[in-house]
Amino acid sequence: QHAAASNSASSGIPPSPPIADEIIIQTKKLNKSFGDKQVLKDIDFEVRKGEVVALIGPSGSGKSTLIRCLNALEKADSGDIYIHGQKLNPHLSVKQLSPIRRELGMVFQHFNLFPHMTVLQNVIAAPLLVRKMSRDEAIALGESLLAKVGLLDKRDTYPSRLSGGQKQRVAIARALAMQPQALLFDEPTSALDPELVGEVLRVMKDLAYEGRTMIVVTHEMFFARDVSDRVVFMDSGSIIEQGDPEELFRAPKQKRTQAFLERML
Ligand code: ADP
Ligand code: MG
Repeated sequence: QHAAASNSASSGIPPSPPIADEIIIQTKKLNKSFGDKQVLKDIDFEVRKGEVVALIGPSGSGKSTLIRCLNALEKADSGDIYIHGQKLNPHLSVKQLSPIRRELGMVFQHFNLFPHMTVLQNVIAAPLLVRKMSRDEAIALGESLLAKVGLLDKRDTYPSRLSGGQKQRVAIARALAMQPQALLFDEPTSALDPELVGEVLRVMKDLAYEGRTMIVVTHEMFFARDVSDRVVFMDSGSIIEQGDPEELFRAPKQKRTQAFLERML
């Protein structure tokens, strides 16, 4: 609560829509090594309800590992993770983890759609299987989400017939279909041809303005500056600097942040 409160206090501008006090994601002193390489170093991080956090930093700085720890795709060596108040205990079984993981919708660089399923089937598979939603209810939800990402006309198409931008928008609809507490994006536009990046960012922008809770790992600096509520800069496994996007981009305090932004902008 304390650490979170000081974060947005640095910005004089009230965020819109308002961010609640409720913490959706929190890590405390998170550490992770691969072999003798320490990839996450004492990461204290939190995301509050309705907040859009852009996670930026050089390749290899630990951004994906942090995201993957949150979703229990990686196990941290030490430290604590809380997802919507539930502790992600490393000793939990897959079955015990499942309801916690469901709180987070993941969107990856490579869309990972099921190739043998239509667009609609991709979107409703998890609600049917995991949420045990009725077929009619799942279809209604799936269609509304496809409409939201502008792809209702593709509902019966197979992923192989879609452009990369369309595939990623389906992946976003699929993540939303589980009605998660937060959405985690790991470089969602990095694998796309440049002309397809905009359509995906536009959908993400709509979600941000709807008040969704989001973490976005991205190299799209303008998206980070214009859409996020807070930018977190990581380097070599540490959070080096974070704060109000406009301020951080205009006047980064740390040398490493300055050097990174100079390379990126
Ligand atoms: P980023 O997403 O910021 O580019 P990553 O979290 O992917 O960074 O990687 C951080 C560091 O951890 C890199 O040096 C990477 O090579 C290493 N790493 C990531 N995943 C593994 C893994 N499964 N095994 C060994 N090293 C890994
Ligand atoms: Mg990465």
